[in-house]
Amino acid sequence: MPGRARRATRVCSTPGCADLTDHPSGLCDDCRAARYKQADAARPSSAERGYGPAHQQLRREWAPRVEAGGVNCTRCGILIVPGTAWDLGHDDNDRSRYTGPEHQVCNRATRGR
Ligand SMILES: [Zn+2]
Ligand SMILES: [Zn+2]
Repeated sequence: MPGRARRATRVCSTPGCADLTDHPSGLCDDCRAARYKQADAARPSSAERGYGPAHQQLRREWAPRVEAGGVNCTRCGILIVPGTAWDLGHDDNDRSRYTGPEHQVCNRATRGR
């Protein structure tokens, strides 16, 4: 069509999804909507909002691994089931060090002492 900029259209990058998209993310509308919902679910809890960008960055790095399954809680050693609430744990002796993901219930259990 003359005068209309051609945008690259490709197949959605979600495995198994055959929808076409020209969005820079490579995801079709449906899959982007689904991702946003997931991101909402994984959004840090209100108790974590005080943490800095390093914490947010580390959490972002851990999130896909936790969501893929196979990451164990650093406190109780039991698998963190994808989709359940988790926090990034701190070393009890050195609060500036992160130990890794742990169940939110395990993390909260150590607070307020
Ligand atoms: Zn898709
Ligand atoms: Zn745990």
